[in-house]
Amino acid sequence: MKACTIQQPHVCAIAAGWKPTENRGRNLSYRGEIALHSGLSVSDYALPDPAATLAFHALGGYPGLWRPSTTRATGQPLLALGAVIAVADLVDVHPAAAGPDGICCAPWGQPRHGTAGRPAHHLVLANVRALPRPVPCSGKQILPWDLPPDVAAAVRAQLAEPAAELVLPEPDRALAAVVPGGVETAAR
Ligand SMILES: [Zn+2]
Repeated sequence: MKACTIQQPHVCAIAAGWKPTENRGRNLSYRGEIALHSGLSVSDYALPDPAATLAFHALGGYPGLWRPSTTRATGQPLLALGAVIAVADLVDVHPAAAGPDGICCAPWGQPRHGTAGRPAHHLVLANVRALPRPVPCSGKQILPWDLPPDVAAAVRAQLAEPAAELVLPEPDRALAAVVPGGVETAAR
């Protein structure tokens, strides 16, 4: 199973089904199933992305971050660090493009990516399935990378379970305003 390491706060917003676009500084040819791995570090590029920051705080924010590899306690599954937290389909990758209404894939798509400010590519994700129990695993910077077989098996076992009801907090009004479909989509 292919995987993509994404830092918080972005990965929780994707796993919640709120954020369908991941920003990267380069193109890639892979399409298809991809595990979403939450990195150990939290992005210092979070604050310029108001939509991701709102999603992060709606789920619990910094106090809610936890490492399933080092604790027996369980927390909000989407705020785990160092673990696979969801699986999605990567359906498209395209360079960020400006249109009459601003940047494509707004508000989640950014015109530039990272502290170096490279022109962004938008990774479009669909069919996101959050895991009820994060699977601890080390991440990698390359994109995509291959999950170790035991991790992939643990992820697939959860996908084969009856769909777990993901309990998400009610997003605040500001987040509801930026999520396509509003609160009904966000609170599914
Ligand atoms: Zn776009």
